[in-house]
Amino acid sequence: MNIHEYQAKEVLRQFGVVTLKGQTARTPEEAEKAAQSMGGKIWVVKAQIHAGGRGKGGGVKLAKSVSEVKQIASQIINMNLVTHQTGPQGKLVQKVYIEEGCNIAKEFYVAVLVDRTFQRVTMIASNEGGVEIEEVAAHRPEAIKKVVIDPAVGLAAFQARYLAYEIGIPQESISKAVKFFTGLYNAFISKDASMAEINPLVLTQEGDMIALDAKMNFDSNALFRHPEILEYRDLSEEEPTEIEASKHDLAFIKLDGNIGCLVNGAGLAMSTLDIIKLRGAMPANFLDVGGGASREKVTEAFKIILQDKNVKAILVNIFGGIMKCDVIAEGVIAASKEVGLKVPLVVRLEGTNVELGKQILNQSGLNIISASDLDDAAQKVVACVKG
Ligand code: ADP
Ligand code: MG
Repeated sequence: MNIHEYQAKEVLRQFGVVTLKGQTARTPEEAEKAAQSMGGKIWVVKAQIHAGGRGKGGGVKLAKSVSEVKQIASQIINMNLVTHQTGPQGKLVQKVYIEEGCNIAKEFYVAVLVDRTFQRVTMIASNEGGVEIEEVAAHRPEAIKKVVIDPAVGLAAFQARYLAYEIGIPQESISKAVKFFTGLYNAFISKDASMAEINPLVLTQEGDMIALDAKMNFDSNALFRHPEILEYRDLSEEEPTEIEASKHDLAFIKLDGNIGCLVNGAGLAMSTLDIIKLRGAMPANFLDVGGGASREKVTEAFKIILQDKNVKAILVNIFGGIMKCDVIAEGVIAASKEVGLKVPLVVRLEGTNVELGKQILNQSGLNIISASDLDDAAQKVVACVKG
């Protein structure tokens, strides 16, 4: 689960990470009031959306007076902000964060994430902050420094110092950087985050280390332990179909293609996506209905696929183990009756109660293209969208 910058800063403050004063606003008037109550001479108005690259897209702007704060807020609130992370359709800005202006001496980068190669939590840092880290990684990988963290020990002080020295934090600010890195790591671990990124981490003219931007991502499987984090969830930032799927406890991810997939088991779902791509088309979603899904759950899953306007053909690929093929068949039929089946449907069933499942589908009157195996199914469904 993703949260907004101002929320991530709230979390980080609890762990001693230094951030600037700020307040959120939903209207230009609120923004003006916020700036007034905060005081100061310079403010930054920042669009709050679940995507980075806001600065370049015009979603982060400096204001030199309270009335300018109001004026900029009126430009940013309700704007459709397009950044390299939002996709071309952009995101509607509903809220801004008014933050006091910072005396930046230099911008750095620091992040905590899970390194899949090392299978450990890792902290990475760079003296090339403020820019896209992917660019740095691609062109100057040596500018990214990294420590791999032993879960039993946590981030050791020597590791934090190593990073601080390696990215060129000046001597008099090293201890502040160490405190910053330690707080960031503690926030990550305590809140079961999957990613915490500060870009830029700023060294101020006064020698302080400050999180000027903050992005945190949380492991959804651990959210039950953090009701306070779940409160931060902003449904308006999420895919409506994914919200609907999560209500029914379905593992569903929307993708860009046009072949809807109903599959059981994450492994089979992944190979289904792979083989569709291999045969020259793109899947519209990842969906794992799970092992012991009920008829109702299968119905909801199939309805979500049927209602996606991008879907031009559907592939049902089931290997029945705990999941029974007849339950799938009944769910497919129930959903089709409710919302209508207007696109070709290719079905590949195998395993528990397969004969019964096929019989139910055959008698349903639905126009079904049956497939003998996974590759056959992929070829047939790809032919439907290409033809
Ligand atoms: P994004 O990464 O989405 O573009 P940031 O929060 O990183 O958004 O802001 C973009 C840039 O704007 C930063 O790299 C920094 O230079 C500047 N900036 C952000 N907040 C402030 C602030 N409070 N004071 C001064 N400059 C800021
Ligand atoms: Mg940033």
